[in-house]
Amino acid sequence: MPDRPPVSEMLDDSERHVAEQLKQTPEVIDTQGRINTADLYIDAPKWRKYPQVSCVFADLAGSTSLRKGRWEASTASIYDAAVKPAVRILADFGADFIDVQGDAAFGLFTGEYSKRRAICAGITIKTFGELVLIPALEAKWPTNPPQTGFKVGCAVSDLLAKKIGISRTAHHAPVWAGRAVNYAAKCSQQATAHQMIVTKPIADVIRCNEYLWYSCACSNEYTELWSEQYVEKVSGKDADGLLLKSSWCATCGDTYCEKICTGSWRRPDVDSKRNLFTYGKYQRVIKFREANGMQIRRGIGG
Ligand SMILES: [Zn+2]
Repeated sequence: MPDRPPVSEMLDDSERHVAEQLKQTPEVIDTQGRINTADLYIDAPKWRKYPQVSCVFADLAGSTSLRKGRWEASTASIYDAAVKPAVRILADFGADFIDVQGDAAFGLFTGEYSKRRAICAGITIKTFGELVLIPALEAKWPTNPPQTGFKVGCAVSDLLAKKIGISRTAHHAPVWAGRAVNYAAKCSQQATAHQMIVTKPIADVIRCNEYLWYSCACSNEYTELWSEQYVEKVSGKDADGLLLKSSWCATCGDTYCEKICTGSWRRPDVDSKRNLFTYGKYQRVIKFREANGMQIRRGIGG
C-alpha cells in the first residue's frame, strides 16, 4: 500500500489536472484498420478516431429478478453460463474489442463487412439465449425456471478512443466517445428478452439483404422478419430502426450467416418472387449499379 497523501493534497493534484486538461484542445488522430487498445494514448491528450465502428450490445434480461430470493445462490453461475458464450460469439465474428460489464457484454467491429458481422453476432447471441440458455435453465429448474434471455442492440458511428486512468498500473481502461456504444446500449435497453433492435444505418443494411430481411426457404412464405422500431433517446435519423424477434433457423442458419458475412445479399430462391416485392432503396441501388455496369452480386453496405 502506498502512503496515502492528505485529502487536501489529493484535491490540489486533481485541481491541477483539471486546469491542465481544460487548457488544451485534445488532438484527434484519424486511424484506419482494426482497433488495437495497445495503440491508444493514455497520458497524452490524444484520441484515436476510428471510422464507422459497429457495436453490438447484449444485456441479460431480468437479471435483477435473478438476484432476488431463491435464485440468489445460482445467479453467479447463470451470469457466467450466459455471458461467456456471448463474449465467445462476439470474438468468433471478429470483434476488435470486447468488454464485459456485469451481466452485459459489447463488441466493436471494424473492417470488411463489419456491419454484417455485427448483425450476425447479435442474432447468434439472441439465438443462443432463446434456444440454448433457456432450455438448459428449464431443464435444471423445471418448475418456475429463471426468466431471462438476451436483449440485443446494434448501432454504428465513428468512435473516438483513449485510455483513461493511471498509466503503468492496472487502473485504466479504454473509453469510447461517440454514438455507436451509447446507441447500441439504448437499443438493448428498449428490447425485451430474445429481441434485437438496431438503429437506422444498420437497418439500411438489413433491408438490402434478402438473407436477413425475409424468412428462410423452409416456410416458403418470404415474410419480412423485421418490424419498424422507433428507438427512444437516439437522435435524428438514427432513431428509425428495426426490431427482430426471430432467431437463426436450425436448417438455414449456417448457410445464411456465411452468405451474409461474405458479402452476399441475393437469395436464389427469392429470384422468382423479387418483382412482387416493393424494394424502395434496394431497387434504386440495383438500377444504379446496372446502369453503371457495376457488379450487382456484391453486397450493398457493410
Ligand atoms: Zn430454414
